[in-house]
Amino acid sequence: MKTIRLILGDQLNKNHSWFLQKEDNVLYCLFEMRQETDYVVHHIQKVTGFFAAMRNFAEELIEEGHAVKYVKILDLKNTHSLIKNLSQEIEEFKAEKFEYLLPDEYRLNAQLIEFCKTLTIQNSVVDTEHFYTQRDELAVFFKGKKQFLMENFYRNMRKKHQLLMINDQPEGGKWNYDKSNRKKWKEDTLIPPFKSFDNNVEDIHTEIQKAGIKTIGKINPKYFEYPINRSQALSQLAYFCEHLLIHFGDFQDAMHTNQIYLYHARISFAMNIKLISPKEVIETTIQTYRQQKEEIEISQVEGFVRQILGWREYMRGMYWALMPNYKTLNTLNNTNKLPDFFWTGETKMNCLKNAINNSLDNSYAHHIQRLMITGNYALLTQTHPDEVDAWYLGIYADAVEWVQLPNTRGMSQFADGGKIATKPYVSSGSYIHKMGNYCDSCSYNKKEKTTKDACPFNSLYWNFLDDKKEELSGNFRMGMMYNLLRKIPAEKLFEIKEKAAHIIANPNEY
Ligand code: FAD
Ligand code: SF4
Repeated sequence: MKTIRLILGDQLNKNHSWFLQKEDNVLYCLFEMRQETDYVVHHIQKVTGFFAAMRNFAEELIEEGHAVKYVKILDLKNTHSLIKNLSQEIEEFKAEKFEYLLPDEYRLNAQLIEFCKTLTIQNSVVDTEHFYTQRDELAVFFKGKKQFLMENFYRNMRKKHQLLMINDQPEGGKWNYDKSNRKKWKEDTLIPPFKSFDNNVEDIHTEIQKAGIKTIGKINPKYFEYPINRSQALSQLAYFCEHLLIHFGDFQDAMHTNQIYLYHARISFAMNIKLISPKEVIETTIQTYRQQKEEIEISQVEGFVRQILGWREYMRGMYWALMPNYKTLNTLNNTNKLPDFFWTGETKMNCLKNAINNSLDNSYAHHIQRLMITGNYALLTQTHPDEVDAWYLGIYADAVEWVQLPNTRGMSQFADGGKIATKPYVSSGSYIHKMGNYCDSCSYNKKEKTTKDACPFNSLYWNFLDDKKEELSGNFRMGMMYNLLRKIPAEKLFEIKEKAAHIIANPNEY
């Protein structure tokens, strides 16, 4: 039966069972479309990386003998609409069947369900064969429970997949080594140079410009650093295991002015577009640990496995359990806009300047920069979660809604009222100082709250707690902070709030 099979830009799984057989009557379709480049303003490296990986994937399929229809961004017949492109191909190929892979994004999932309802030919959908869990597995696991704790889900995943387990007990005796994952990096261990693939993507970059796609951030198209095919993704993983795993856990939450990546794997882009699977990443990492048990501690490997087996699968499950309503939540009723410096990096606040410039230059920031610098600032300044979502969804190469949204709206902005995080991730300058060296070379004084040179995070922090006391003071994890707030004399709190109000009203002055 003549069949059209759709492959979306983040479904580049070479190991999918679809490709086990070469079938003459099957045509694989991949489309570069304005529908996808324009629903938010993306980073130039994100658009380029997606197109480069899609083109490589299509070429590899053709080399292996599969029939492929690849529609480029400047192709004249490109309608830039998924539905119109598909209808065109179905007609031209005289397809009798349409098949697609389960989209990870709610928007595309809904679009394809509607499309199939209009078809007069047969149609079906199959799994992407990428994740450990099925879409609804987390919802089933938490059914009837009041709290959806990641830790409970993670332990269940460890047992179910027998990862870092000795029979029914966690290897090393503890489930979680989070407490050993909080060291400040004091330039006392060597950080190997980061792995770059120096891909030349000038052609694609020129096409994107010719098409007039609006983007943010910088790129050097002669030396594009991200992995854009499976063999590069595998080599990114091998590099992590060989050079970075040894200190991954220790410095997971560390921040440093001279280090963009520290010991992070930089594997999210490759994993999110499915060049490599979480199973491969986790199994290779555990195998490295087993082979080098004398050098690599369990806390390093457990910290890494937790991020992927725990957080990544958990975020996906929460997304599917809570969408579409999740995208509208704003429990703290925040309404402000993000300041202009989120798009320019021009601020005197050294922590924000570093985190934002990393993001603009590399389409990357590591987790703690996303959570405790940019996310923390956005929440303390009471920014509307729609604004925050749009920035995160656009700027990072790894940003696909199923993982970006629960991280941003849930974990970082507490807009879901605590479904994902048990308390808001907010801090004053003292946490930022504890975990990094930004404050050492900042224009602001990390210890002051209200002076002209006071660290803006300090007044913003106490002001936030005061403004949101109705919503947050009952949270048992916030009890200690509210006790401290109550001890601040009324006149001092007034001064703090005046300062915070000025920062919120004039963010670009800071
Ligand atoms: P490493 O630190 O080396 O971690 C290894 C892997 O663990 C990552 O590649 C990722 O797949 C997984 N991981 C770690 N933390 C998380 C998490 N919280 N949720 C899901 N997976 C996790 N990750 C994305 O992939 N896409 C996003 O759009 C995204 N948006 C985020 C927005 C905010 C506000 C925050 C706080 C976090 C976000 N994350 C996102 C999670 C995390 O920051 C990135 O996965 C990580 O920084 C990617 O870099 P890495 O590969 O070097 O990660
Ligand atoms: Fe950031 Fe404040 Fe430290 Fe400056 S002093 S780097 S603004 S936390």
